[in-house]
Amino acid sequence: MIQTTKVINILRKTRFNTIPSASLSEINTTFKVLISCILSLRTKDSTTIAASRRLFQKASNPYKMSKLNARTISKLIYPVGFYRTKANNIKDICDVIITDYKGNVPDSINKLMKLKGVGRKTACITMMYGFKKIECIPVDTHVHRISNRLGWVKTKKPEETELALMKLLTNDYWFDLNRLFVSFGQNICVPISPFCSVCPVNMYCKKVNVVHSR
Ligand code: SF4
Repeated sequence: MIQTTKVINILRKTRFNTIPSASLSEINTTFKVLISCILSLRTKDSTTIAASRRLFQKASNPYKMSKLNARTISKLIYPVGFYRTKANNIKDICDVIITDYKGNVPDSINKLMKLKGVGRKTACITMMYGFKKIECIPVDTHVHRISNRLGWVKTKKPEETELALMKLLTNDYWFDLNRLFVSFGQNICVPISPFCSVCPVNMYCKKVNVVHSR
């Protein structure tokens, strides 16, 4: 039997949270959720937090941000991954939000995914943590890997994992899953040689495709 709720409840209590709660409280508008999520792609949490802080101190909404040129944005967000591309995308996103949505972030996954550089995971995170609408599960590399190792799903791609998890879990567990698994995946169930010997959910894990562990 798959013990999904037991695992989630254990991780809620033994949370390996690497993001300081003060930083999370600074991301206090849907626009900031969207932009900081874009900055976080392929970037360490500590770098994302510092870059978000620098950018939002200069411009906290799409109107102010659209007045910055892409070069200024790229300097503010450096050294996040792909900072030049992200700066151009952010500039474009601000223009679209102002022109097409009267300065408001669009509130649907489909509309969000039409913004430059916004994929399904970023759209899901914006819906969930910005609009507080639970319509999807943001699945990144950590959620995908851990769900498969635990034996909850048997999938090849994050999109398949999302659908499988939505069938497996009731939606009161969707909200937490991304944050819990990202922290857990950065600290314990790491990509190469996970720390199974100190893992709090070891007894519920099938360790699918785990060849080496510590
Ligand atoms: S037992 Fe190992 S593979 Fe399973 S969740 Fe824990 S760290 Fe990951």
